[in-house]
Amino acid sequence: MSNKLVAGNWKLNGSLAENKVLLDGLQSPDGVEVAVCVPYPYLAQAGLLLKGIALGAQDVSEYDRGAYTGEVSASMLAEFGCHYVIVGHSERRALFAESDAAIGRKAAAALSGRLVPIVCIGETLDEREAGQVMAVVGRQLAAVLDVLGVEAMGQVVLAYEPVWAIGTGRSASADQVAEVHGLIRAWLRDQGVAADGVRILYGGSVKPGNAAELFALADVDGGLIGGASLVAEDFMSICRAA
Ligand code: PGA
Repeated sequence: MSNKLVAGNWKLNGSLAENKVLLDGLQSPDGVEVAVCVPYPYLAQAGLLLKGIALGAQDVSEYDRGAYTGEVSASMLAEFGCHYVIVGHSERRALFAESDAAIGRKAAAALSGRLVPIVCIGETLDEREAGQVMAVVGRQLAAVLDVLGVEAMGQVVLAYEPVWAIGTGRSASADQVAEVHGLIRAWLRDQGVAADGVRILYGGSVKPGNAAELFALADVDGGLIGGASLVAEDFMSICRAA
């Protein structure tokens, strides 16, 4: 397995002035890959200011070109220096009605545009309480595998982000994370995907205080960090824990 990957997800935050302060405060610690996924209009600014840190976006169109008002294609993101793109974040699934199938097509569009999709999966609290974690996560994964096929599935990054842990301050426990990450890797292996090479990130209220414990777990290959990626000192401390 390659180095751990810690990716910041700025969501709908930032301004030219705020970004400058934040980006100037970032460096990549030795042996850890760091990425920041910024809003589209700030890709050029972040591309200029980042050194040794990968650039990413937070969404991508399933289409490459044409009459799709408001959409941004993978090839456009690649032109601005993006390496990663988040696909299927739970906020996009819940607030913008993105279906499992559309997320599969977006992951495929990202790979055809030479981006690495960070595909987010995870259950709601109701689903967890109903004992449906792997039913939900398996369904989300299967929709992506259906579109990509086994070989391309081995090239994505996955982010397990239980919806109830996102932005709530309440991270999943180490036991919960270890269990689901192990099940995800086993699921991939069962489908014939080269599972050992797939990075599985954890996301959901990762903070300087819990990052080291989560990153030490066997099947955790890094993190997707929301709120704490907006403060350089906190984000750097999480990156150093990886
Ligand atoms: P959080 O968000 O770190 O603020 O919980 C994680 C995410 O939504 O990717």
